[in-house]
Amino acid sequence: MGTASQTNLQQMQQAQQAQQAQPAAAPAAAGDAAAQWTCSCGSVSDGKFCPECGAKKPEAAFCPNCGYKLNGQKGKFCPECGKPL
Ligand SMILES: [Zn+2]
Ligand SMILES: [Zn+2]
Repeated sequence: MGTASQTNLQQMQQAQQAQQAQPAAAPAAAGDAAAQWTCSCGSVSDGKFCPECGAKKPEAAFCPNCGYKLNGQKGKFCPECGKPL
């Protein structure tokens, strides 16, 4: 049992190191129908268009430069890295 548990421990440590080494990349948001967004009119929608004013869901949910999740925030520049959106 001793060697088996040691092997498991090493595998777990290696797995943790591998996870830490990989940055949390922004996934290609496709088919994420459950994501809610707040329209400029103040209405919250989980579809592709605002049910209140018909505005289209903003597509820039992540900063293309650093991957910061904008999550309905309005602005012309990324609050994380300062790049224009
Ligand atoms: Zn709206
Ligand atoms: Zn950014």
